[in-house]
Amino acid sequence: MSHQPSRPYDAIIIGAGAAGLMCAAIAGKRGLRILLLDHAEKAGKKILISGGGRCNFTNHFAGPEHFISTNPHFCKSALARFSSADFLDLVEAHGIAWHEREHGQLFCDNSARDILDMLITQCRAGDVTIQTQTSIDKIDHAQAFNIHTNRGLFSGRQLVIASGGLSIPKMGATPFGLKLAEQFGLRIITPRAGLVPLTFTGEEKSALHELAGISLDVRASCGTYSFKEAMLFTHRGLSGPAILQISSYWQPGESITIDLLPELNIEDELKACQSQRPQAQLSTALSSLISQPLAKRLVRLLCNSVITDMKLEQLRSTDIDKTSNALHHWHLKPAASEGYRTAEVTLGGIDTNELSSTTMGAKRVAGLHFIGEVVDVTGHLGGFNFQWAWSSGHACGSALQPFQQ
Ligand SMILES: Cc1cc2nc3c(=O)[nH]c(=O)nc-3n(C[C@H](O)[C@H](O)[C@H](O)COP(=O)(O)OP(=O)(O)OC[C@H]3O[C@@H](n4cnc5c(N)ncnc54)[C@H](O)[C@@H]3O)c2cc1C
Repeated sequence: MSHQPSRPYDAIIIGAGAAGLMCAAIAGKRGLRILLLDHAEKAGKKILISGGGRCNFTNHFAGPEHFISTNPHFCKSALARFSSADFLDLVEAHGIAWHEREHGQLFCDNSARDILDMLITQCRAGDVTIQTQTSIDKIDHAQAFNIHTNRGLFSGRQLVIASGGLSIPKMGATPFGLKLAEQFGLRIITPRAGLVPLTFTGEEKSALHELAGISLDVRASCGTYSFKEAMLFTHRGLSGPAILQISSYWQPGESITIDLLPELNIEDELKACQSQRPQAQLSTALSSLISQPLAKRLVRLLCNSVITDMKLEQLRSTDIDKTSNALHHWHLKPAASEGYRTAEVTLGGIDTNELSSTTMGAKRVAGLHFIGEVVDVTGHLGGFNFQWAWSSGHACGSALQPFQQ
């Protein structure tokens, strides 16, 4: 069945998530005629579940050093032109109550819905047409971009792809943006799951399984990258902020290193204990050094496997070194990550060399733009991914051109 397209829109945006809503609101406010399409039954589903329902909507320290990309300079322009302070101004102008948590993370006091409502209000103010439950069959491009959907044919002079990453297919994530990039001959950086728990097999899995439920502050490292945050032992392996952060730098086959006591120098502490309580057991001394009561299980496990329990007076300097190494440099080799099923983000995406960092427009296809997580820019954990959605959406929404009749 062929449909006649409606009057062309200035721009059609595909994906009514964080980036698409921001882009639509900005372009709409500038007087452009905007259609925002999404296949889901409602807009902004990931916003609603984010930050445990309170949406970690940005971070006070949202500088380029918190983003991973094949080109680390690409995000700079958009982040500078619409910063975390600019988003916070918007949040405050809408009277949304917020609070700051550790590491500069900003959350809603009440609900993530406040952020979604704010974006939808902004879209309404710009007369944006939001149409959900619209699946895209195909797109062709002549003078305009023709979007063939289950609800008919729509035509736009410009097309913005804001369809997000591959994480959490159950929430509506699809490879749509990557496939479209391929259709137009644009290069892609191979996507992979980021901010994701790591899983283990064999003896490592059994050891970690015994500690399931324990959470403690660690320093997790992979290569030259390291993060000092909480880590959680799970039945499948490791999770918690420190592990999610390092997972974005981990590649299959690599090891990670965990400093279980980043605040202490175990060597110095053990030497002090040795002179004060020579008759005490090593396991007792270690347990007293680790404040969290649950972490005593961890010491028991280490003393049964990696290190030998003995009286402190028997400890030789090689034993102290071994103990210090076991606690400060615990090497583990993850078998895999939990993948897109639980990943918070997708690394990789549209190669930033294909895009203008000021407009997010494709250099080789006039009128085609990519914003948000579909682009090869991925933030650390802590509100950075939404900030990229806001900044890239804002850059694109400010650059879209009105259609000349
Ligand atoms: C559980 C969870 C919690 C998170 N919490 C935080 C947080 O607190 N802070 C933070 O900064 N980041 C968080 N993130 C990451 C953040 O949600 C994303 O980085 C951000 O939503 C990306 O914005 P986006 O607009 O690019 O994509 P999305 O918000 O994912 O939006 C993409 C939209 O495109 C639509 N779409 C996809 N495919 C198609 C298709 N084929 N046709 C039509 N429409 C399509 C989707 O339905 C969706 O509405 C979290 C992610 C998850 C999974």
